[in-house]
Amino acid sequence: MPKSSKFIFITGGVLSSLGKGIASASIGLLLKQRGFTVTVMKFDPYINVDPGTMNPLQHGEVFVTDDGAETDLDLGHYERYLDVSMSRQTNATAGQVYFDVISRERRGEYLGKTVQVIPHITDEIKKRMRTFDGKFDVIIIEIGGTVGDIESLPFLEASRQLTLEVGRANALNIHLTFVPFIRSAGELKTKPTQHSVKALMEFGIMPDILLCRSETKLPKDIRAKIALFCNVEEQSVIEALDAETIYEVPQLFAKHNLDSIIAKKLHLKRSTLNLETWSRFTHRIKAPKHHVNIALVGKYVKLQDAYKSITEAFIHAGAINNTKVQVHWIDSEELTDENAAEVLKDMNGILVAPGFGSRGIEGKLSAIRYVREQNIPFFGICLGMQCSVIEFARNVCNMPEANSAEFKKNKFNVIDMMPDQKKITDKGGTMRLGAYPCTIKKRSKAFAAYKNEHISERHRHRYELNNDFRDILEQHGMVLSGTSPDGKLVEIVELPKHRWFVGVQFHPELKSRAVTGHPLFIAFIKASLSHALEQFA
Ligand code: GLN
Repeated sequence: MPKSSKFIFITGGVLSSLGKGIASASIGLLLKQRGFTVTVMKFDPYINVDPGTMNPLQHGEVFVTDDGAETDLDLGHYERYLDVSMSRQTNATAGQVYFDVISRERRGEYLGKTVQVIPHITDEIKKRMRTFDGKFDVIIIEIGGTVGDIESLPFLEASRQLTLEVGRANALNIHLTFVPFIRSAGELKTKPTQHSVKALMEFGIMPDILLCRSETKLPKDIRAKIALFCNVEEQSVIEALDAETIYEVPQLFAKHNLDSIIAKKLHLKRSTLNLETWSRFTHRIKAPKHHVNIALVGKYVKLQDAYKSITEAFIHAGAINNTKVQVHWIDSEELTDENAAEVLKDMNGILVAPGFGSRGIEGKLSAIRYVREQNIPFFGICLGMQCSVIEFARNVCNMPEANSAEFKKNKFNVIDMMPDQKKITDKGGTMRLGAYPCTIKKRSKAFAAYKNEHISERHRHRYELNNDFRDILEQHGMVLSGTSPDGKLVEIVELPKHRWFVGVQFHPELKSRAVTGHPLFIAFIKASLSHALEQFA
């Protein structure tokens, strides 16, 4: 019989955006650094089957796993903190749950019974929550949404039932709440927390630990008041102040003994916490020696969560280069050939972001032309790489009509759809998704970064470099330095004469982990830093 796991449910109260994902990842890291095996799962109460078809301006980045699932961006935090790979099974939405239950009903599997939220939907949720039962010491389950939302009810109910099934010694509820400081009164207010806990209790859930987000320190008397009114032990009312960097949250939690409190409540065996490597990493983030200005050119810059993994990858690569990476958000729709030099002149490197649709493309091309001609480090990701190929074809290979078939179909589609993509009608989950192997040419910038000929990176796109144009691009000096192992798909392009000009068809940002970073981001920041230092010299 496999041993069973301990479950930690993380719920959120009062308002959204309190950082439940970071809290879950931080708790996971603390338990991992005490020697336990841990995984984190996210349950999202919305009806979309996955976030793949949602607008990045609404939902933020879509995080893609190795096995090709399009998931919530919190899975990115789990991967970055815990240095483990998530999968299709670690993220579930209400949409998926209902889809499964309704499909079963259509097949007649409920034998004429009335299909209901309780028990059918909740049973399906519990089944998914138990996917990894016995495979890890601890399973952390983050429940999306805020307590009180109608949609999250079945998930809370499932967590209540599961706690009863596995026993209270084997499951915990950690509630993340907010204690506002009211400036006019000069006081911290506990009422929203009291109400949120009351709402949880109405569903039969008694939180074991409260993580209280607040702008100012929580004095002992406030913690005592929350403890008393919310029926939680005083030592388990934990202050969660705003951190200088999100990567410091595990240390802040550890300062308040959160890991020992959890270990004690869950009867986890004795162990000690080792945060040495992690502390060195956060120290490098907080005390950098150098500084670089990087332009992030994209069309979703109004919601920075749309590029979450990219900005995190910069932080990791910055820490490794002892450099503060100052990201400048540049809306590609506002860039033109005329103003590119003015807007980008103080930049030490530019990254052209992934994206969909034709809006903002010409601005991206202007930015690429400028950095190509000025020998400024360039990193193109997915659509950014495709734009670098279009720009090169137009301005170097003398093909002024060069374009991607995504924007304009013509005879010069240097970027085109693969034949198997042309047959697809469903938009959801049908792109080239997930991890694919790539072979890298030696003596390339990519090889210098990876120090490996064989890599695997994650994809999320429909279009590819059109092989009919390979020769002309190569004749004019573009090196196709990475391809699929059979050579059929171009995965990396670069300009060898340029200081650092690399475009990748995949999404390297999705595999950048805290502490270790990603080889291409590390190399890009290194090149940008040497550009910055030269400018000062
Ligand atoms: N729109 C492009 C494609 O589908 C690029 C996608 C992306 O940048 N992720 O191929």
